[in-house]
Amino acid sequence: MQHVSTRGAAPPLDFRGVTLAGLASDGGLYVPDAWPRLEAETFHGLRTADYGETAVTVLAPFVGGALEREELRALVSAAYGSFAHAAVTPLVELDHRHWLLELHHGPTLAFKDLALQLLGRLFARFLKDEPTPLTIIGATSGDTGSAAIAAVAGLPGLRIVMLHPEGRVSEVQRRQMTTVEAANVHNVAIAGTFDDAQAIVKALFNDAAFRARHRLSAVNSINWARLAAQVVYYVHAAVRLGAPDRPVAFSVPTGNFGDVFAGYVAHQMGLPVSALMVATNENDILARALGAGDYSRRAVQPTASPSMDIQVSSNFERLLFDLHGRNARALADAMATFEATGRMTIPEPLWAEAARLFRPARVDREEMAATLRWALDSTGQLLDPHTAIGLAAARRLADQVEGPVVTLATAHAAKFPEAVEAATGVFPMLPARLAGLFDRPERMTRLPADARAVAAFIDGLPA
Ligand SMILES: *Cc1c(COP(=O)(O)O)cnc(C)c1O
Repeated sequence: MQHVSTRGAAPPLDFRGVTLAGLASDGGLYVPDAWPRLEAETFHGLRTADYGETAVTVLAPFVGGALEREELRALVSAAYGSFAHAAVTPLVELDHRHWLLELHHGPTLAFKDLALQLLGRLFARFLKDEPTPLTIIGATSGDTGSAAIAAVAGLPGLRIVMLHPEGRVSEVQRRQMTTVEAANVHNVAIAGTFDDAQAIVKALFNDAAFRARHRLSAVNSINWARLAAQVVYYVHAAVRLGAPDRPVAFSVPTGNFGDVFAGYVAHQMGLPVSALMVATNENDILARALGAGDYSRRAVQPTASPSMDIQVSSNFERLLFDLHGRNARALADAMATFEATGRMTIPEPLWAEAARLFRPARVDREEMAATLRWALDSTGQLLDPHTAIGLAAARRLADQVEGPVVTLATAHAAKFPEAVEAATGVFPMLPARLAGLFDRPERMTRLPADARAVAAFIDGLPA
């Protein structure tokens, strides 16, 4: 399968190419040139499959000839073998309508492990015979960074430079990044917001000489392979709840629009998804875009769900590409306007079309806290703030959708203990496998929110 850029000017690439490239050279994002379809009987066949088997079935059409099926199977079982739960992504029943899909049993306690544990192994496999090392650079609002670092620490032929907005990630998140000792891991604390950090990453990618010199690649959710890996758990959960014979709705705590876009891909592949609830916190650009066509950035407000404190959702461009009938030129123009002015008006027929599947819901701090309390009092579940936002949206919108409603539990409560304790009075304990996190020394470099400063830092790293 070939992959094309949403802005039409970068060369088409196969799965190996898009995995290693991350962002397209024209500033766009790669997507498959057509959405593969799975037959109803394939979904039926997955009802008794384990997570690894489901992953191989869902990923095979994307991977195409880039890997033998047996190689894919081996990478998948190594990736998900690092999870602490035998079901990998267990479903938990909350009541007759609502389910939680627990995506936090990986090494860093957030759903990003599901994509990155596989992505790290794909990188190592695809780079196996190459002499030039590759530099992975990324910006994180918290969970991507630790998951990416856990996925590539110590791998040969790779180094990782991870930018995070100083003081805007939780202490657990920061320590999960800065206490990793591997020599190929470099943490940078940026004096600015996540969007500043992400803009620096984009600027470095757009500097062709710098990009070539360091052989830059990305593991942010702009990397297509990462999104492909996330399609798997939508399929795995839905077939357990009766798909393809009945539809299933998902509620997705959303920031960069990567996770919920993976749900859209599952839908495009033929999974009967009745709705994708796009749950946001007070940083609600997506709720405004999907509810009224107003895609305009505002200042980021720090909240108790920092991984969703995002005002420019990179992956939304992938949906806009489809909504524009895959007309890359039209989309490139629209994105240029957005990048120049900070706003874009999405024509009504387009956002109205999107709104048939995507249901936006903005959840404020109080509703998040009330939902944390409801879940604990009524179901015994101690959620994290991101998951609580998803569940609040699910409970608000359930009457409008068909089928069971699955809320993606994107992080373990112990990653955000202060917010959880403030809402519920219960302090969530870290699982035993993370013991010692607060005792280990931290390593990071502080830099201003300036692409030149970050470029100079990378130029100065030992080869
Ligand atoms: C990254 C993250 C999100 C947002 O996911 P996107 O793919 O960026 O929309 C939600 N919750 C948690 C816990 C996260 O780490």
